[in-house]
Amino acid sequence: MQYDVTVIGSGPGGYVAAIRCAQLGLKTALIEKYNSLGGTCLNVGCIPSKALLDSSEHYHNAAHTFKEHGIDLENLKVNFSQMIKRKGEVVSQTVQGIEFLMKKNKIDVKTGVGSFVDKNTIKITSEGGEEEQITTKNTIIATGSKPGTLPFIKLDKDRIITSTEALELKEVPKHLIVIGGGVIGLELGSVYSRIGSEVTVVEYMDRLIPGMDGTMGKELQKVLKKQGLKFHLSTKVTSVERQGDEVVVKAENKKGEPVELKGDYCLVSVGRIPFTKGLGLENVGVKTDKAGRIEADEHLRTGVEGIYAIGDVVKGAMLAHKAEEEGVYVAETIAGQKPHINYLLIPGVVYTWPEVAGVGYTEEQLKEQGRAVKTGSFPFKASGRARASMDLDGLVKVLADKETDEILGVHMIGPRAADMIAEAVVAMEFRASAEDIARMSHAHPTFTEAIKEACLAASDNRALHI
Ligand SMILES: Cc1cc2nc3c(=O)[nH]c(=O)nc-3n(C[C@H](O)[C@H](O)[C@H](O)COP(=O)(O)OP(=O)(O)OC[C@H]3O[C@@H](n4cnc5c(N)ncnc54)[C@H](O)[C@@H]3O)c2cc1C
Repeated sequence: MQYDVTVIGSGPGGYVAAIRCAQLGLKTALIEKYNSLGGTCLNVGCIPSKALLDSSEHYHNAAHTFKEHGIDLENLKVNFSQMIKRKGEVVSQTVQGIEFLMKKNKIDVKTGVGSFVDKNTIKITSEGGEEEQITTKNTIIATGSKPGTLPFIKLDKDRIITSTEALELKEVPKHLIVIGGGVIGLELGSVYSRIGSEVTVVEYMDRLIPGMDGTMGKELQKVLKKQGLKFHLSTKVTSVERQGDEVVVKAENKKGEPVELKGDYCLVSVGRIPFTKGLGLENVGVKTDKAGRIEADEHLRTGVEGIYAIGDVVKGAMLAHKAEEEGVYVAETIAGQKPHINYLLIPGVVYTWPEVAGVGYTEEQLKEQGRAVKTGSFPFKASGRARASMDLDGLVKVLADKETDEILGVHMIGPRAADMIAEAVVAMEFRASAEDIARMSHAHPTFTEAIKEACLAASDNRALHI
């Protein structure tokens, strides 16, 4: 069969690219090595982690805030196997949704490992070893990433685990040691802390969620500490060893003092690495960089005509929505259109509670650029809506150009920040000034009023409710 486009990998980058190609009238094939479509995001990433975050949040609220709301519960307990079962159902329903979308768009789905024979020939090898070859004018590589580790850590996937196993445990850990204070470590650490585990996070840098605005990391640490998580920052892990059913983590703090932790599980969440194994890149001359990412130019072209790469396997934020935008971008490029992605405006989100979200430049980046900036912030403790729901932690921070008032960055930690950040993305996409947002009506009472108030604060300190 001759295809206009073959997509290798069915994660959010790959399946979205395939749908857009089909919408544009291109004959499209999608190759996935697993039986389940959706990639990391749907199977072992975004969706299952959010399912467990929601379940554990309900439990945490029932245990800690219901009483104050006037709801008394007796004999509250976690049914962990049901929590995991529900997560599994959420995943399979979402995966079925993707299967439906493939059928609806008449995309040919092929199960097996896709590899290049040459630039226009792709071989699909099934689990049983059967082979099929297809010819294609264009190929989009969307093979994603896999969990990374440290060279001296042997992941046994039983007690020394990655996020994949952490989403599928058989019991609630007594003491979970999390190596890495980034998004994945803190989200999964929160899940287990809420349902009764002691959770200790060891982070090499001097702050949590290092890529995000500095204020967010500090605030998040304060709140998570109140929730019971323990932190060792500026601490370098030197060994992780399994001793029976125990895991011993040895580390060194910034003073050079030894730190030793013992737990029953250790989650290694030190970042993810691009996945290109088995693709046969050498057969076509597609290059990878030192970090293992496929080299691609600003149009996501690999340097070999007709071969593109998107998502976690190329440079940039390892986020599902970034992969999706790139999938659409490449599909439209192949169809002869001139699409555009504004990478500055791809929001980052952490689904702890409170949630953290940010878009645009961080305060640290603007300082480094030497840009004259004004800052406005507004704490949720001054929000009526937040008081009603007892979500008083956190703040919204708006960074605007000192002269033009253009919004350059919005960072927030608070209730529903993951959803609220969309307002900031729209504002920045249309190059709004802080005053533009400050003069727009925001429904009362809503959490979004905090964005308006932070914009008022940035405009000559005019916040009304503080
Ligand atoms: C625990 C966790 C939570 C996360 N939460 C979020 C979140 O809340 N929001 C967010 O934006 N991001 C989140 N992410 C990141 C997100 O999952 C990734 O950024 C996203 O899945 C990348 O999409 P992708 O299409 O590039 O690749 P992937 O989703 O990794 O998909 C790649 C697919 O390619 C397949 N494949 C690889 N090689 C071959 C081959 N040779 N032949 C056939 N198939 C192949 C793989 O089996 C896989 O299915 C999370 C990640 C993890 C691990």
